[in-house]
Amino acid sequence: MKKARKTPSTVYFVGAGPGDPELITVKGRRLLIAADVVVYAGSLVDKKILNCCKKGAKVFDSAKLAIEEIIGILSDAAMQGKKVVRLHTGDPCLYSAVGEQMRMLDCRGVPYEVVPGVSSAFAAAAALKKELTAPELTQTVIFTRLGGRTKVPEKERLSSLASHGATICVFLSVSMIDDVVKELKKGGLRSNTPAAVVYRASWKDEVKITGTLKDIAQKAKKAGFKRQALIIAGAALGSGAAHPTKLYDRGFAHSYRK
Ligand code: SAH
Repeated sequence: MKKARKTPSTVYFVGAGPGDPELITVKGRRLLIAADVVVYAGSLVDKKILNCCKKGAKVFDSAKLAIEEIIGILSDAAMQGKKVVRLHTGDPCLYSAVGEQMRMLDCRGVPYEVVPGVSSAFAAAAALKKELTAPELTQTVIFTRLGGRTKVPEKERLSSLASHGATICVFLSVSMIDDVVKELKKGGLRSNTPAAVVYRASWKDEVKITGTLKDIAQKAKKAGFKRQALIIAGAALGSGAAHPTKLYDRGFAHSYRK
């Protein structure tokens, strides 16, 4: 009789958070503590987060690996019934290539789950102490990037996104900050629109720079940021952005307050 194949264990894609090892979720940390095999994004995840791994856990830095090698490690370990964590920076659903890894695991019949993390966009907002959705100014946040080796669809050109006047968080583009500013202005944002760049948000050496579209590129270049920085622009960053919300207004009844 043919021997039944053992069901593979579940691979957990875990968001490590933006840098500070304390910003991983309780669930993510629990999985990391128990893991036999960990593949982490070494280019952006602080190694300190791995201090909680058990002795003998096999740890691989994905920065040095090709996608087939990553999937090979994850699926072999899952087939052997091991506890497997794939650790991504920030939240796994943004610019992390998690989609293609999930599809490749699907092809191999390996189950997986995703544990969310704190995106660097939220760590940057925390560093700036700003609410990205400001009442009456904007109720929308756009996550985007400039095209580089990875192309951005024409309809999503930064200039057309900027025309909405929403808060814009630009990932992966600080080395092209002149082009970012040019596109934002082309889309109708004025030179005095508040803008910020946060380098290594939540890390010990975090740096934040604030200004306007007029001077932010120059300031960021002076600071020498080449990577691991997020550009945020929009009226919500302004000091006068605070129209009070209705949420805590005495005259505004809702289901929790009559
Ligand atoms: N999944 C990640 C994004 C990965 S793409 C997330 O949710 O944050 C990598 C880009 O994210 C970097 O180029 C940079 O723009 C941004 N980034 C990642 N970590 C950062 C940090 N600590 N501070 C500022 N930007 C960061």
